[in-house]
Amino acid sequence: MTDFAATRALFHLPPGVIYLDGNSLGPLPRAAEARAAAVIREQWGERLIRGWNDCEWMALPTRVGDRIARLVGAPAGSVITGDTLSIKLFQALAAAIALRPDRRVVLSDSGNFPSDLYIAQSLLDSLGQGHELRVVAPEAVADAIDDSVAVTMLTEVDYRTGRLHDMRALTASAHAAGAIALWDLAHSAGALPVDLAGADADFAVGCTYKYLNGGPGAPAFLYLAPRHAETARPILSGWLGHRAPFAFERDYAPAPGVERMRVGTPPVIALSVLDAALDVWDGVDMADVRAASIGLSQRFIAEVETRCPQLTLTSPRDPHARGSQVSVAHPQAYAVMQALIARGVIGDVRAPDLLRFGFTPLYLCEEEVVRAVAILADVLATGSWDRPEHHARAAVT
Ligand SMILES: *Cc1c(COP(=O)(O)O)cnc(C)c1O
Repeated sequence: MTDFAATRALFHLPPGVIYLDGNSLGPLPRAAEARAAAVIREQWGERLIRGWNDCEWMALPTRVGDRIARLVGAPAGSVITGDTLSIKLFQALAAAIALRPDRRVVLSDSGNFPSDLYIAQSLLDSLGQGHELRVVAPEAVADAIDDSVAVTMLTEVDYRTGRLHDMRALTASAHAAGAIALWDLAHSAGALPVDLAGADADFAVGCTYKYLNGGPGAPAFLYLAPRHAETARPILSGWLGHRAPFAFERDYAPAPGVERMRVGTPPVIALSVLDAALDVWDGVDMADVRAASIGLSQRFIAEVETRCPQLTLTSPRDPHARGSQVSVAHPQAYAVMQALIARGVIGDVRAPDLLRFGFTPLYLCEEEVVRAVAILADVLATGSWDRPEHHARAAVT
């Protein structure tokens, strides 16, 4: 059994805060703080450019990728880290489309994160070959998979509602129709068990600043199924995805395997911080995380439905049909959340009317969930959210 009291002790958690937003930005692992200082002072400061060899900076994208691979059911050597999720999605989608040159449809759903849809649309437009981004309701995806589809591009967990797609079944449907399956694990990695190899996914991408606690803007990851590793065509073919970057050859030739999806110089400090953040997962069983997260979210829903009649559940009620977050609707969601944050309970809002809460057993316990809902109930019952200061909009929600 995973010892969640022990994992909690690995984080810096500001006193007086109940943190229900680890689905958006994970808190600071103590080891990451120490690593950042050491990398900056001892590696960059003392080793200077020698650090590339002495400190093995160049190997960080694959070494950290292997640590993430373990958490998402991928074999070693199939995951690379670097860049942002939006960029990794662009690369994966471009490579996936190139594997189905005779097809013109990319299928996604309306619950997908806007960046994924924007990136896909701009990529398809730039190809200039008449590709179509077909966006259907999440519930309609299975029926929309047919033999016109080149790629299914789906995010497993809906960022607003937490609704969970059946990765195994949809991947099988995609393959049966001759399509490539690309999964976005932004709200899955570190939140619930993912079995990329078992589900037979072709490509996957994800970010590391949410449930993997890699810090704001932490590097993203990309999974390339070993069966495509020598055929997938890298788009954004930068020098560090070349098979011999320091030969400085005139023509591009892809590196073997997933390393071809590297682009440019790796973010050494950010990858080092992420590497240290991943220490938290040593000895953690993802099945335990899932069971505990379901316990927390079920308790949250039960408390909300008992104490907060002003709120409507917008997440699936069945815990097996959602990820590790719960959202509830309120017409004044923004102001309610500001009032809640002012009382030390941190979640976030998604326009127009969702209050969103993430459940992260690595550092969150049931007593805090109960206390958080008590504060939420008080904010709603007293109407304290309706003070002018809670209506002032910040740039980032
Ligand atoms: C968080 C998230 C993103 C953010 O992409 P960045 O490039 O890291 O800003 C993209 N897609 C999904 C599905 C997300 O949840």
